[in-house]
Amino acid sequence: MRRIGVLTSGGDAPGMNAAIRSVVRNGVFAGFEVYGVYHGYAGLIAGEIQQLTARSVGGILQIGGTMLGSARSEEFKTREGRQKALAHLAERGIEALVIIGGSGSQAGAYALMQDGFPVVGIASTIDNDLPGTDTSIGVDTALNVALESIDRLRVTASSHQRVFLVEVMGRGSGYLALMSGLAGGAEVIVVPEVPMEPEEVARRLRDAYNRGKRHAIAVVAEGAKYDADALAHYFREHGERLGFEVRVTTLGHVQRGGAPCAFDRLLATRFGAAAIAALTRGETGVVEVLQSGQVKAIALEQVVAKPKKLDLTLYELAHTMAW
Ligand code: ATP
Repeated sequence: MRRIGVLTSGGDAPGMNAAIRSVVRNGVFAGFEVYGVYHGYAGLIAGEIQQLTARSVGGILQIGGTMLGSARSEEFKTREGRQKALAHLAERGIEALVIIGGSGSQAGAYALMQDGFPVVGIASTIDNDLPGTDTSIGVDTALNVALESIDRLRVTASSHQRVFLVEVMGRGSGYLALMSGLAGGAEVIVVPEVPMEPEEVARRLRDAYNRGKRHAIAVVAEGAKYDADALAHYFREHGERLGFEVRVTTLGHVQRGGAPCAFDRLLATRFGAAAIAALTRGETGVVEVLQSGQVKAIALEQVVAKPKKLDLTLYELAHTMAW
């Protein structure tokens, strides 16, 4: 194997650049020619491929996002779409791909593997919903960005007897909401994994007021049945008397844009090196993950089989800590 490719796919995550840099530099050092595929699977279908050198990845380590760009592609889910991608890879003589992304992207990697093309995945998603890994590139940075915002909102909430409904990212996953809520001392945390009706959110906020709290934070995952806007709307429509004035802040993409923290840069650098080591050994069909502090390569089957579960003991703990 002489030529390999690298791409980033799905939602961008802080630290993806550090992972690209690591794949390229470790790859070149190990004797591979490394090609960057631009704009994820969409770019692979379109043949947006260019060679990268050790110098092409200078100056990106500390920058969020991805220099290769990312995309979502419905066409790649079809066999015809993947055939176009495979044709571009064959044309360029690229014999294996390193795929940096979350659960959807690794499902794409698995599909390529089943089509007979060698792949190695790298766990990267701010949602921390990829199974088989304790954490993924971007999670820690996104969590700290959310936490900093929650801390700031608490300061202003306390001056005005307000409750802030803070919406954090995580489509189907409540991980960021739970962890930022727990670390930020939220009075209520609403996640998709634990159904909670608006009446219950209102009851918990009223209780907090009656226990003497004069401001409150409710952290709401974007994928919850009622997002922050829907909850605020419900409180208004039903004339819920919470004691607090209600304000909504949606953090949205702000959480993605942070400069990667030390943890994410180190994780990305280790994952990139491990992916190249796997390719050097001729080991493919795996994804690099973190388990109990160790970087490990696990079979792609394991990450596409089932969704990652939220640690509900921490959810219970957050409830107690809000007392
Ligand atoms: P994030 O966790 O940040 O959202 P992700 O990798 O989970 O990232 P998705 O949008 O779910 O992001 O997936 C990225 C892309 O992976 C999709 O747009 C699609 O091109 C490809 N993909 C997802 N599922 C499959 C599948 N079953 N087969 C082939 N390709 C897939």
